[in-house]
Amino acid sequence: MVKGTTSMGKHSNGLTHIRCRRCGRHSFNVAKGYCAACGYGRSKRIRRYSWQNKKVNKERLV
Ligand SMILES: [Zn+2]
Repeated sequence: MVKGTTSMGKHSNGLTHIRCRRCGRHSFNVAKGYCAACGYGRSKRIRRYSWQNKKVNKERLV
């Protein structure tokens, strides 16, 4: 077995996140079934925290 450049080409199988249906970000976890960015699939409301200064859908959530 090699563990250098030649074997790194096999590190592309499977995907953890797909595009989220609600926020459009590439943050929907396939295995867990929810979005890491907006919480889609986990909660009805959009995932947000007071300490976060993040834009969802290019809009800053206050
Ligand atoms: Zn989302």
